[in-house]
Amino acid sequence: MKPFSSKYPLIQTIFSKVQCYGVVFVLIPGIFVFQLAVVFPNLVTILDASIPKQITHMCLASFCFINIVGNMVLSMLIDSSVKRPNKEGTYCDYCRMMRPAKSWHCRRCNVCILKRDHHCTFIARCIGLYNQRYFILFLGHVMVSMTYATYYNYYYVSAKFEDHSWIVSAFRIVNPLLRFIIPEPMGIKDMYVVYLFMNVGLIIWSGSLFFYHFRNVVMGVTAYEAKYPELMNSVNWKENLISVFGTKWYLAMVWPLADSPLPDYVKGE
Ligand SMILES: [Zn+2]
Ligand SMILES: [Zn+2]
Repeated sequence: MKPFSSKYPLIQTIFSKVQCYGVVFVLIPGIFVFQLAVVFPNLVTILDASIPKQITHMCLASFCFINIVGNMVLSMLIDSSVKRPNKEGTYCDYCRMMRPAKSWHCRRCNVCILKRDHHCTFIARCIGLYNQRYFILFLGHVMVSMTYATYYNYYYVSAKFEDHSWIVSAFRIVNPLLRFIIPEPMGIKDMYVVYLFMNVGLIIWSGSLFFYHFRNVVMGVTAYEAKYPELMNSVNWKENLISVFGTKWYLAMVWPLADSPLPDYVKGE
């Protein structure tokens, strides 16, 4: 029994779980289905794509989907918490036990996390030693996939509108008051422009987070340590990469189920 209870109430915990399952099981497959069921068949007609080209894009889209969902689910399922007291390290007042160096207590998870990076509200758990690989690769694959999708969605949207009238639609979405000047009612075409906006927003969101976390990995610091520039060290960048993505980091980057064990020196137990 923990001597201190979590300061976060049950309703908040349930809300964060619903939010994270919403992203995993509704939003991401929803975008994937939209791309494959609506955008893809239209583009095949518009661009008059050959069968080999269609197969290539199907394979690339599936590769993106597997890497996004695989890394996201694994970053949620894999637990980085401290399971048993350590012989050395620091003492946690909440768990009443010794924990390895770089482990910190999370008040939301109410447990100590090995090499704690930060608590992620999107996946409703802490990012630490064992799930950091999946979390960062999830962000990286979202960024690459959304750039790929945006390129084709742009073709799709511009084909649906005459000339460059999709720009007018974009302005009207940003400022609905423009409807008084442009009397044409909002239609399904405008929804495609909203999707294009969402894609660009996701590139900015995932890209900025990916580059921030990837820089921390290369520099060998956690998100907490990144506040202290003197702790950053890019000389051992390859060791730093291996300490997060494992000894088979090149496989981990392209396949979420790849076995890429972490070296013993990072475990600190
Ligand atoms: Zn603790
Ligand atoms: Zn946490």
